[in-house]
Amino acid sequence: MATSKVILVTGGTGLVGKAIEKIVQSERRADEKWVFLSSKDGDLCDYNSTKKIFEKHRPSHVIHLAAMVGGLFHNMSHNLDFLRNNLHMNDNVLQISFETGVEKVVSCLSTCIFPDKTQYPIDETMVHNGPPHPSNFGYSYAKRLIDIQNKAYHEQHGCMFTSVVPCNVFGPFDNYNLESSHVVPGLIRKLHDLMEKGGETFTVLGTGKPLRQFIYSLDLARLFLWVLREYNEVEPIILSVDEKSEVSIKELAEEIANAYDFKGKIVFDTSMADGQYKKTASNAKLRKYLPDFEFTAFPAAISESVQWYKENYKNARN
Ligand code: NAP
Ligand code: GDP
Repeated sequence: MATSKVILVTGGTGLVGKAIEKIVQSERRADEKWVFLSSKDGDLCDYNSTKKIFEKHRPSHVIHLAAMVGGLFHNMSHNLDFLRNNLHMNDNVLQISFETGVEKVVSCLSTCIFPDKTQYPIDETMVHNGPPHPSNFGYSYAKRLIDIQNKAYHEQHGCMFTSVVPCNVFGPFDNYNLESSHVVPGLIRKLHDLMEKGGETFTVLGTGKPLRQFIYSLDLARLFLWVLREYNEVEPIILSVDEKSEVSIKELAEEIANAYDFKGKIVFDTSMADGQYKKTASNAKLRKYLPDFEFTAFPAAISESVQWYKENYKNARN
């Protein structure tokens, strides 16, 4: 069968992009050609370099993952950069997708962009219902505007531009830089370094009480492929594990300690911020479409992620 779809993945070298690449390789389809971009292919904050990329690959479909992404502490100190970089990237990718006749764009929001003061569980209808948590307002407003743009491109030009809303993601190829990382890669890196030094005290930032839903990047990748191929609403869809799978940061630290067979002490540095207490999201909409989707069990997914880091830490993003 001849190739009929050219799928361009922006941010193809990141945590989510690498997971999608792995799933695509394991279930190749003859009518799909995939292109995974890194920032070395061009700066998506720049209109002209973005246009060149689209003219080179002539995509029929786009999965837009590229973003300035970071954990709580990086967001707190760089709200302006998160706002501007993401606004520019998103506007260039969506506008050039429109100009070059891309059939479908799937962009990425996040459950951390929802209103800070809200009812739980949060669902897809609540994205714009109040200010986000102050720790990450730059990232949040830039991401919220993707949903506004998707609706405007649809209304004015009939475009099928949609978005997904993942909860916290983790897995191989994450960012392990302690200044900018999310909690899972941050704690994996910290415990890895501690075990190498023979240390006894594993320090977790904050109180350990906040609650999070964590999705394994390979599960998210499978769901992304389903959205690209089957989901045809402009409205966003939350891609999250079930509400009952929410865990505390303390439970997460214990799971990582188990995976390393760490026998020392876990302590909490309560002088550091907790960020949002919780952002419990409902995956009822996803479950309506895919009632039988099975998420990888959390301990197995953490164990695989730790194993990956043990085997790859020398070349990982540290
Ligand atoms: P990531 O690992 O940090 O990867 C970011 C990707 O974006 C990399 O491929 C990077 O390229 C690319 N990129 C960054 N700035 C760029 C620029 N100016 N021009 C071109 N490319 C650029 O991020 P991720 O965790 O995979 O996140 C993917 C998407 O999921 C993002 O939209 C994020 O907002 C969303 N999301 C993530 C999480 C999470 O917990 N990680 C949760 C919810 C939603 P290089 O590798 O070349 O630098
Ligand atoms: P968030 O889910 O958007 O808040 O982002 P993070 O993944 O950065 O943080 C989640 C929670 O983990 C917050 O409550 C942090 O206080 C806590 N945490 C504990 N240790 C760490 C760490 O080493 N790095 C990060 N980023 N967060 C940590």
